[in-house]
Amino acid sequence: MNIILLGPPGAGKGTQARRLVEKHGMMQLSTGDMLRAARASGTAMGRKVAEVMDRGELVTDEIVIGLIEEQLDAGASGGFIFDGFPRTLAQADALGELLERKAQPLSAAIEIQVDDDALVRRITGRFTCADCGAVYHDETRPTEKDGVCDSCGSTNLQRRADDNEDSLRQRLLEYYKKTSTLLGYYYALGLLRRVDGMASTDEVAAAIEGAIRGELVRS
Ligand code: AMP
Repeated sequence: MNIILLGPPGAGKGTQARRLVEKHGMMQLSTGDMLRAARASGTAMGRKVAEVMDRGELVTDEIVIGLIEEQLDAGASGGFIFDGFPRTLAQADALGELLERKAQPLSAAIEIQVDDDALVRRITGRFTCADCGAVYHDETRPTEKDGVCDSCGSTNLQRRADDNEDSLRQRLLEYYKKTSTLLGYYYALGLLRRVDGMASTDEVAAAIEGAIRGELVRS
């Protein structure tokens, strides 16, 4: 199974990808996480993309396609979950070619549908554990103990530099200008599935499981 999670920033792609990793042993490929790791380790590429990311714009297709290609070569028996990739038609075409070359077809592109009004609230209150990746929210999912991760006990809780209102507006604009066109692209390929992203995390996860089971029955 190779699955793409589609949806605007704040839709819950990362949260749902992590659940699929736990449940099915799939490998999460998040280009956002890869770029943040490159930034944090101070590589030349990381320095190059830092400002672009903070502005909420997209980094070049060449860079992200290169990152994905490296990871696909590393392989995963349980399949891949693409989270935040592809974001442009050029990336979608490149992914199709890479998967075809590996004889690993795409099973589904799952759109997590959310109200735009909810996104600002979701994003501006968001923080994560830098050690285990658990995701929290100031209002809807605070940690039990202030400043301490419920899952792993780490105090390394961080907010993303681009999780502010200005960057979010730009990220949303980029989504609607460049990424939302992929919904039509995957629909035309017969791969698009939709789930209601305004439901609870558990309900969204169950809907994604349903979409995946549908694919397994078909194949
Ligand atoms: P994300 O963590 O997916 O929200 O991504 C954070 C930022 O990383 C985005 O706003 C972009 O600047 C950059 N980025 C992540 N994935 C891609 C991609 N597939 N194409 C271009 N830029 C990306």
